[in-house]
Amino acid sequence: MATHRTKVPRPLARQLFVEVGHRCAIPTCRATPLEIAHIVPWHRVQRHDFQNMIVLCPNCHTRFDRGDIDRQAMFHYKELLRLPNPNRVAPDDPSPRAGLIRAYRMFQSETIRWQESISLLVSAVCLSSFGFPTGNLGPVRIAASVARAATDKLGELGDEDVAEAANNVFDWHRCWASDVFDLLPSAFNATEDDYEDRREERFMLFADLHEEVCAALDLDPTELDFFEARRDDQELPKVSLGTRGFWEADE
Ligand SMILES: [Zn+2]
Repeated sequence: MATHRTKVPRPLARQLFVEVGHRCAIPTCRATPLEIAHIVPWHRVQRHDFQNMIVLCPNCHTRFDRGDIDRQAMFHYKELLRLPNPNRVAPDDPSPRAGLIRAYRMFQSETIRWQESISLLVSAVCLSSFGFPTGNLGPVRIAASVARAATDKLGELGDEDVAEAANNVFDWHRCWASDVFDLLPSAFNATEDDYEDRREERFMLFADLHEEVCAALDLDPTELDFFEARRDDQELPKVSLGTRGFWEADE
């Protein structure tokens, strides 16, 4: 008995196209033009249900109808579409995957904050003619503790390789901060080449960590942003401090 097949309502069609970013849903294909397919065939379900529908190019649609791609595989492709964009994880997404990505971002920002506080201490030591600027130690210590906690959290949510790579980044900063605290000349008399070497070393440790986090998430390293938008890329409001205007930059 042939049943009249109703048209897919426009809002539902739009939702399905948006779900795949207006590309064939098979990740290795992504071709256009596009058709809407029912995973369990229309003649059996006789209704348009988002969860049972997927957008395919004509070639993949034909292969699906022929059975080259079976129904379980097609449900698997549909399931893949539900995975969130790793670069836009919702703060309240309870999945372990989202938790790992958030811990990674937290680790990055706290490590950068720590690095900034160490740099500031180095400048303060270099500029100070009144002995060690002990007032600058507190922020470095606090940033170190927060970075330690972020490292542990990332290690806990990732696998062993993630934990090891995160610890390598942490240890690199700890060694540097210790050299500064101990006033080792090498921490203050670095040449431009030394700085370049250190920057490179630090970059490689972050890059290793990025690869491990992506491996744990089953992502290609290019699919996850290496660094979040840096703070200085954001439009931050100016805050005026004090009343004298002495420190305000002339513009
Ligand atoms: Zn296709």
